[in-house]
Amino acid sequence: MFNPYQTKSVVIRKIIKESSDAKRFVLEFQDKEYAKQFDFLPGQFIEISIPGFNEAPFTFGSSSKNKEFFEIAVRDVGSLTSALSQMKVSDEVGMRGPFGNGFPMDLLKSRNLLLVSGGCGFVPLRSVTEEYLDRKDEFEGKLQVFYGARSYDDLLFKDDFEKWLGAGIDLNLKVDKQDKSCDSSKFKCDTGLVTELFGKVDLVERPVVFICGPPLMAKFVIQELDKLKVEYSDIYISLERRMECGLGVCEHCAVGPYYVCKDGPVFSWDKIEWIPGII
Ligand SMILES: Cc1cc2nc3c(=O)[nH]c(=O)nc-3n(C[C@H](O)[C@H](O)[C@H](O)COP(=O)(O)OP(=O)(O)OC[C@H]3O[C@@H](n4cnc5c(N)ncnc54)[C@H](O)[C@@H]3O)c2cc1C
Repeated sequence: MFNPYQTKSVVIRKIIKESSDAKRFVLEFQDKEYAKQFDFLPGQFIEISIPGFNEAPFTFGSSSKNKEFFEIAVRDVGSLTSALSQMKVSDEVGMRGPFGNGFPMDLLKSRNLLLVSGGCGFVPLRSVTEEYLDRKDEFEGKLQVFYGARSYDDLLFKDDFEKWLGAGIDLNLKVDKQDKSCDSSKFKCDTGLVTELFGKVDLVERPVVFICGPPLMAKFVIQELDKLKVEYSDIYISLERRMECGLGVCEHCAVGPYYVCKDGPVFSWDKIEWIPGII
């Protein structure tokens, strides 16, 4: 029986190096019956565990339409992520979930969507993008992406860019510093902050905006959206907080009256903008 609180074993089927410190893992359930019942929304997360290295939350990086595999992309920053980055194809890890609420994908049925992201924050927004492509016949809205990273190497999912552009997604990239790979890239990636795209790129009409990235970036993005008079109820932000249980019990991720793990990690900005230090 499907139980998101139970740790299940998943096998690493493929590992793709995304940048100098991030890898993408294609994961497959051992239990095929369980896999059939497993479903998620872009923006939800799972807890990945490795014996001896505890567990940590990671968002989905793939579309929920593929029932056989799902993907995560992980930046090597500490004990579990370092252990994961040394694992090989066919190794197994534990996973429980999905947890949290996810992005309101159904808004795309009638509205245009702008995704704004920096660095590793793009992982759940890649899930949104892939889901958009898989369910395109359901969605009337256009998809526009503003994505920034420290360098061209640090941009994740570069292998997808050509497909996305070919599918009519308006992909706009920014890097903090230019390097050789940027010069030789087929994709235009100017130097500067992702917020500089506002004012330079024609925004899709009356967008719903999904944001995931460093808090400072999110703060300036919201300032830009404010200038453009985007309603706070049309801005959705995925928050990252230290969390342990993922169930709203341990209280590590409490923000104002909410728990990021249970009530989020995605919040509409009108619900949380009043909370001091929220981003
Ligand atoms: C909902 C959610 C989704 C996430 N999705 C992804 C994802 O898709 N890909 C990805 O690479 N990471 C993601 N993360 C972050 C990831 O869970 C943390 O980096 C995790 O703690 C790493 O575990 P570790 O044992 O390797 O690091 P640790 O050894 O626990 O910590 C390494 C360092 O990072 C700091 N740190 C850890 N977590 C946080 C945090 N949340 N905020 C601030 N500092 C922190 C620690 O203080 C320490 O300095 C997500 C986090 C959340 C809450």
